[in-house]
Amino acid sequence: MAKKQFKSESKRLLDLMINSIYTHKEIFIRELISNASDAIDKSYYKSLTDPSMEFNKEDFYIRISVNEDERILRVSDTGIGMTKEELDTNLGTIARSGSYDFKSNNESKDGVDIIGQFGVGFYSAFMVAENVTVITKAHGSEEAYKWESTGADGYTINLCEKDTVGTEIIIQIKKNTDDEDYDEFLDSYNIKNLVKKYSNFIKYPIKMMIQKRRKIEGTENEYEDYFEDEILNSMVPIWRKNKSELEPSDYENFYMEKHYGFDKPLKYTHVSVEGITSYNAILYIPSRTPFDFYTKDFEKGLELYSNGVLIMNKCPDLLPDYFGFVQGLVDSADLSLNISRETLQHDRQLQFIAKKIKEKIKSELLAMQKDERETYEKFFTNFGRTLKFGLYSEWGANKETLQDLVMFYSSTEKKLVTLDEYVSRMKEEQKYIYYATGENANNIAKLPQAEMVSDKGYEILFFTDEIDEFAIKVLMSYKEKEFKNVSSADLEIKSEGEESKQESEENNDIFSFMSESLNDKVKAVRASKRLKTHPVCLATEGELSIEMEKTLKSMPDSMAGDVHAEKILEINTEHQMFEKIKNAYTNDKEKLKKLSSILYNQALLIEGLQIEDPVQYANDVYELINN
Ligand code: ADP
Repeated sequence: MAKKQFKSESKRLLDLMINSIYTHKEIFIRELISNASDAIDKSYYKSLTDPSMEFNKEDFYIRISVNEDERILRVSDTGIGMTKEELDTNLGTIARSGSYDFKSNNESKDGVDIIGQFGVGFYSAFMVAENVTVITKAHGSEEAYKWESTGADGYTINLCEKDTVGTEIIIQIKKNTDDEDYDEFLDSYNIKNLVKKYSNFIKYPIKMMIQKRRKIEGTENEYEDYFEDEILNSMVPIWRKNKSELEPSDYENFYMEKHYGFDKPLKYTHVSVEGITSYNAILYIPSRTPFDFYTKDFEKGLELYSNGVLIMNKCPDLLPDYFGFVQGLVDSADLSLNISRETLQHDRQLQFIAKKIKEKIKSELLAMQKDERETYEKFFTNFGRTLKFGLYSEWGANKETLQDLVMFYSSTEKKLVTLDEYVSRMKEEQKYIYYATGENANNIAKLPQAEMVSDKGYEILFFTDEIDEFAIKVLMSYKEKEFKNVSSADLEIKSEGEESKQESEENNDIFSFMSESLNDKVKAVRASKRLKTHPVCLATEGELSIEMEKTLKSMPDSMAGDVHAEKILEINTEHQMFEKIKNAYTNDKEKLKKLSSILYNQALLIEGLQIEDPVQYANDVYELINN
């Protein structure tokens, strides 16, 4: 067969990987063993659920062998094997397109880091290989195939001989160079240690012939070499181990081995529950946001085992969407092996476990928030948005779970705070939890609307995520305190000397005129009770704020075409600018029309909104300067 090229994205990635000096070349062993174990999982599962399959537990194992003279390392398994098509698709494309996109968007990151992000599984063998041969026979197939490649220049697939079902990976180990030692991967003792380090908890035996030396019987000092088959791993899955026997590095290695993430997990927890439904679980919170986390490609879920047998790679029903970032596994002897995606949702045991897992995640997060605030802040920066989406979705059904986990940036504390912390600091006469919305904390801090609330000494929560205001609208109140946008028309704050701000009839006429000249852009123009130093601002009446309008309008196919916030243009009558307005009202009505339009546009700009006709606005300002 002619040599086939790797798909183009694979080629670039492969080049990058082979040519970068990856600090942990040795992890290729973990990757190959992990693939072998996955393949055996599949045949093991088949053997348990398909009565026609004859099955012997001893038939499932992984074997490693080394031939120092030929510089060959072999990893073989008795797993499910691959058909010719599977060889082509599975080993012809390195990274699925999603990961590739991620890479191209992150070109600035150094190569090593990118590889760390992928792990790239099978291909990591090329870090130590001159060439790689894969011989495989799929379950149920008569033919075996041989895949060969020397790396980036492509691969061939040919028919070959193989008696048993399974896969054998043959690695021709590179020769040592001045900088790099490859001989270590031909040293049985080293391999044995690497397997212990990275793959100790693989549940199938990893066998290797180890050369040993013994005294020849009947002699004083004569020794002979012999070979003995050894099982290198403990075979007890990590989640069945006693927590006290495990080190943090065991959990971290397991996380890497499983490809739950390629970072160091931020947090993990190991749960063993005995009861009507017994189960073990290991749950991880990644320290980085997966690149596709906030896209529809992201698949949430935990691995699901029934008594040590993998039945599903990602069982979505074990995690609510808002905890979708959690990685890990659940193993329960009480689950049926024949559970299918369809029956899953109705399985009482599974529902019970899912509920317990949800509670566990919540309590772990609360504990982290209390005892390890910095770690929690890191977590929240990565995944806080999904918690806020959780508050918003299902009409607030999850508020009990989530309201104490969300945080917002505080105007007074200058850091993320919880709602509980806010409420505990509220002033005696303060009625509401105040918040302000905008692109970022910097812009919000300068909002004219916030002046009066700040002057009162009230704390303001800064909402910088689009979802924030929607989430608290659904929440409605926290500890019986309602939320209030500092831009809302009625702030219900009494300021000193408010009486003196009673509007004169004359001003009302001016405002009516301005409002009319702005057509239906604003609901009304009014004297502001909140502005101190700024001349104008926008306020809103009713439920919909300007930020919410902006968000709804930005949605692709929203029915929100004609939703709009009821805007009030507030004028600071104490500001010297108001003198100009009064003047224009008596002397030059046309000028007041222009002024109204300019002020309205300025208020929009302060809000971070687009103005409808920038050219007109620029001309108006220019004209004003010239006069
Ligand atoms: P990943 O394991 O992350 O999917 P790999 O590059 O390691 O990525 O492997 C690609 C695919 O090749 C696997 O998903 C699997 O389908 C197949 N594969 C790899 N090794 C084996 C093996 N030993 N037996 C059967 N299939 C395998």
